[in-house]
Amino acid sequence: MTHPHRPRPERADSPELAAFRRLKAAQPELAGAVDMQVELFVMQRRVQARLSTPWLEFDAVWLARQLAEGQPILRFDEIPFDWGEFRTLFRQASEILRRYDLLEQAVQDEVQQLIRAGRPTKKDVSAWYDGTATRLLGRPSGEPGQSETVGQVLALAARPFLARTVETLHQRVDLAPWSRPYCPFCGGDAELALLLRPGETRLACGRCTGVWPFPEHACPHCDNRLPGYQKAFASRDGCYRLIGCEACRRYIKAFDARKADRPFMLDVDTIATLPLDAAALQRGYLA
Ligand SMILES: [Zn+2]
Ligand SMILES: [Zn+2]
Repeated sequence: MTHPHRPRPERADSPELAAFRRLKAAQPELAGAVDMQVELFVMQRRVQARLSTPWLEFDAVWLARQLAEGQPILRFDEIPFDWGEFRTLFRQASEILRRYDLLEQAVQDEVQQLIRAGRPTKKDVSAWYDGTATRLLGRPSGEPGQSETVGQVLALAARPFLARTVETLHQRVDLAPWSRPYCPFCGGDAELALLLRPGETRLACGRCTGVWPFPEHACPHCDNRLPGYQKAFASRDGCYRLIGCEACRRYIKAFDARKADRPFMLDVDTIATLPLDAAALQRGYLA
């Protein structure tokens, strides 16, 4: 006997997919961006769910020193990549971006060439990983000639492996000594801020999904910590904020957990805050 009204039990029930559906209904102008992000999300989660839990042992003295010196703790060799799986993700991610017209022909050609040559290899990804951790001294820069867009495809393919690793580290590493504007796990930049309570702000890494504490009135771009330099504007629904820095004129978008009816979801909130980028430009902030 069938139950036609029983909800489908699989991924369609994930809280993120439900949030994506609500976002699309509330803001139909974001439909294209939501659809693309859903495809990427499903692709990444399929792999992430299959990965075994990496168990990284950190020497306590080493860990304390890294955090005190502002050095990220996740070293490339410790991330459990599966290179066959990685290359499949790289190809799939590029196909999704192409379907949504986000890859120029030149980049498509570059991606095709890499795939035909059996790349990206471990060496390619290592160069990307170390090269995009821009604020670290003494790290090599990315492969010469590799376009920024190819870097974005690499980031999409690497995300499940990084996120799976960081997921387990969140529970075990005390990040209280860290208040830098970049990610304590991978060294990546902040994608969004997260306002938990007055005085309690977090930043979220766009690369590995790591979340870390950050001073409430500091700028994640220029690291200015003087009071009075941050101007905040709430989104129409009140769930998000645009926080502009009067010192460097750059901005960060924030999820306001005090106003929202669900927890922070990096993948969903990245799309939900797209309209704030236009608002920021209108107010004269720099992208
Ligand atoms: Zn990170
Ligand atoms: Zn600033």
